[in-house]
Amino acid sequence: MKIYLDNAATTKMSKTAINAMLPYMDNVYGNPSSLHSVGQAASEALAAARKQIAECIGTLPEEITFTSGGSEADNQAIISAARIGQRNGKRHIISTAFEHHAVLHTLHKLEKEGFEITLLDVHENGIVLPEQVAAAIRGDTCLVTVMYANNEIGTVQPIDAIGKVCRANNVLFHTDAVQAAGQLHINVKEQNIDMLSLSAHKFHGPKGIGVLYARKGIPLMPLIEGGAQERGRRAGTENIPAIMSMAAALQESCAHIDENAGRLCVLRDQLIDGLSQIPHSILNGDAAARLPGNVNFCFEGIEGESLLLLLDDKGICASSGSACTSGSLDPSHVLLAIGRVHDVAHGSLRLTLSNENTEEQVAYTIRAVKETVAYLRSLSPVWRDLIDGNREFIIQ
Ligand SMILES: *Cc1c(COP(=O)(O)O)cnc(C)c1O
Repeated sequence: MKIYLDNAATTKMSKTAINAMLPYMDNVYGNPSSLHSVGQAASEALAAARKQIAECIGTLPEEITFTSGGSEADNQAIISAARIGQRNGKRHIISTAFEHHAVLHTLHKLEKEGFEITLLDVHENGIVLPEQVAAAIRGDTCLVTVMYANNEIGTVQPIDAIGKVCRANNVLFHTDAVQAAGQLHINVKEQNIDMLSLSAHKFHGPKGIGVLYARKGIPLMPLIEGGAQERGRRAGTENIPAIMSMAAALQESCAHIDENAGRLCVLRDQLIDGLSQIPHSILNGDAAARLPGNVNFCFEGIEGESLLLLLDDKGICASSGSACTSGSLDPSHVLLAIGRVHDVAHGSLRLTLSNENTEEQVAYTIRAVKETVAYLRSLSPVWRDLIDGNREFIIQ
């Protein structure tokens, strides 16, 4: 038996998403740019998918650009806003310390080019305040980019209020909504969002496909040069099977957002209650303003990596944080951003739920984590020092 609790890293494709691909690998295999009927059938399908996705996020089809995923969408949004800013002599960008690396690394690159980057503090609860954004905006600010929900600790940002602040100050607002899509409601017009990134494999769609929404009038700079696909905003023959599948997956998850969230919150809170009983443990991120399926803890005196491997032996697929930093010895930049010290940040565990998970799995997982943490502590010299009073506990 496998218990998959790593849905923030990727999700299993839904049957709907798989079925939606099939005709486009078989009968409707045309290139949408071809003028003949086989190509035109693909072109019509592409237009329908674009419309479906636009409707899911409250916008128009012409504002949707298909990308290879969330990373590309983040890159293109930020670089486009930077180039627009540059033309107007504006070289200041506001973001937060705990964004995804697709955002942070792009900002870092721009910084080397002479842009000034302000990374806002996200406090111990993992939430940035709209007042911080308002206070950071300057005459030369060309972009605010703040993620909708964090991929490690699941905290949900006050996107509506941040959108209002940006619109009032006439500053472009981008949000990485990769973790939010399918779990939280999105309406880019009502929320004053100028640009937004999505990735299909985070909402039970296929990998390697995503969306960049950009409000009409915002010129996107192509990262891939070539043909005139996507109205010149991204060259390359469209991945029709993946796009059709993504549209079906997004529509399916958006149609069931409230019932899914209700179910996941129950399981999430059972996990949180169960794991909180472990001594010297702490929940990372606000308990209330968090994604329905996200649980993230630090346990003092153990290494997250060892915990993961032992849980895997027990059939539980979990993560210590972001899939992108696993394998490196650096502690998570997200946990450091919420003030966890290195030693504590190393002992982290992220469990992210989907609708496939059950109460039985949650109960089993709580038992397994309790046992495994106790076992690892029994072997840990650091834990011995803590127990013997030779070292102070950081988590009480
Ligand atoms: C997964 C993820 C990305 C990257 O998406 P890909 O499609 O894998 O490139 C970006 N941002 C967040 C918040 C993510 O969780």
